[in-house]
Amino acid sequence: MDTTALAQLLFPHVTLTPEDLEGRFPPRDLKEGAIVSRMAPSPTGFVHLGNLVQGLTSERLCHQSGGTLFLRVEDTDAKREVPGAVEILIESLKHYNIVFDEGATIDGDSGSYGPYRQRRRVEIYHVYAKQLVLQGEAYPCFCTEQELSDIHARQEAEKANFGYFGKWAVWRDRSLEEIQAELNKGTPYVLRFRSTGSLSNKIRMTDLIKGNLELTENDIDHVLLKSDGIPTYHFAHAVDDHLMRTTHVVRGDEWLPTLPFHLQLFRSLGFKPPKYLHIGPLMKMDGESKRKLSKRKDPELALTYYRAAGFPVQSVYEYLMTVLNSNFEDWRRANPDAPVDKFPFSVKKMNPAGSLFDAAKLRDVSKNVISRMDADTVYAQVVDFAAEFDADLHVHLTADEAYTKSILAIGRGGKKPRKDFAVWADVKPYLDFFFDDWFTVTESYPEAFDKADIKAALTLFTERYDEADDSTVWFEKIKAIAEEIGYASDMKAYRENPDAFRGSVADVSMFLRVAVTGRQNSPDMYSVMQILGRARVLARIEAMRATL
Ligand code: GLU
Repeated sequence: MDTTALAQLLFPHVTLTPEDLEGRFPPRDLKEGAIVSRMAPSPTGFVHLGNLVQGLTSERLCHQSGGTLFLRVEDTDAKREVPGAVEILIESLKHYNIVFDEGATIDGDSGSYGPYRQRRRVEIYHVYAKQLVLQGEAYPCFCTEQELSDIHARQEAEKANFGYFGKWAVWRDRSLEEIQAELNKGTPYVLRFRSTGSLSNKIRMTDLIKGNLELTENDIDHVLLKSDGIPTYHFAHAVDDHLMRTTHVVRGDEWLPTLPFHLQLFRSLGFKPPKYLHIGPLMKMDGESKRKLSKRKDPELALTYYRAAGFPVQSVYEYLMTVLNSNFEDWRRANPDAPVDKFPFSVKKMNPAGSLFDAAKLRDVSKNVISRMDADTVYAQVVDFAAEFDADLHVHLTADEAYTKSILAIGRGGKKPRKDFAVWADVKPYLDFFFDDWFTVTESYPEAFDKADIKAALTLFTERYDEADDSTVWFEKIKAIAEEIGYASDMKAYRENPDAFRGSVADVSMFLRVAVTGRQNSPDMYSVMQILGRARVLARIEAMRATL
């Protein structure tokens, strides 16, 4: 076969050479050990947790090593693309603080290794496609869908392996004349790789997450360019990651089966392959067994879910860190206030088999994250959440900023901050009683208490309450009231001999709490009363007294 003639026949428009492109995209000038990696998502309109797991891993590797992270939009599959998907993608990643040094942006491209949208790189892929044809390593295949499914049916009947290879690869060795005849007729074709691999050969390689792997060579003549001239993922991966000078490819382990083909491509194209990190899937428990998170069954796979549920970005981020690096939690306990990017992220701590997604754990991490925030941060974030998802809450929170912040400051800042919120949606039920139009008494007094005791305690408190008391004096007064109505003021004495008392000071506090907050559990009562102010505290107690 005259490959020069074939290359000219198939790619008459290609004038650039691989050398031209090497010159246009020279090796990056980075310090020793700097990692160049990328996120390469497809714009399907659905951004999922797996994207974030992959993105965070790449981001940490690049930015911890003084390297470069870029965003490449893999839009070769036009059928899967929905309008606005690129914008959704970029916005979601930005929301999760994945900052790219270069790549696709909403307004176009930024960086000198682009274009960063694959459909705009067709000219580049054709240079290398032509090169492979010249080398005799690629050829056109004019099979119709029908012919391919006939081949598949015959393979099934013969119990042969499936795929376009060996004797099944019917266009692999056709003459230039036959090819020319089809081209003259305008028959559509794909460009295929001429594989010389064999299933009896093994390839050894080291994946930075999975460890040493032994893989079977690829013997399939996979498609490189589809009939519209657009590359497949595999071909674009080799060309792009070479020209963009990617040092580390972090991707889902669903790509492992085609890795031998990718390595073949790198070799045929004369490129040095990058280092690979194949991440195992996110799993969840379904009854007794584990399964992969599924788009259809698990709403928590979509990134939009976390935003709407009110998880702070930092909570999702820290949760994913606990999933990715087994020592993250210990580090966080030892460094409660350190910025998260000070954590020494390590590939060695990643689980090769994939990780278990645990919703309860996420809430737990989130409670810790929020408990470390100051009131101003909580205020800003919950106001943002409310603006998007709860207009009524937004109106209440912003009516008097200083008032809301004083509520949110209760129990914050000390050694043992309160852990009341896992998501911003928890804020409304926590503080609704601070707003008169929301205040209702939702819990009543337990039957066991004598109404006369409750009434007496409320009356005595009303007579003695002084807003200027500090919390010690305030509590001494409640203890005194307890004594006067025959309740224990000392909890230890009460626990030792409960029958000697009608109740305890804790019960007296509860009498006040139900009157003032409408419920049996609330944030610290002294702070609550200070914030509500004397008039409202006494009015609520009076209203309760009138019902007894
Ligand atoms: N577009 C591919 C995907 O979304 C990218 C895989 C890769 O990072 O190479 O799975």
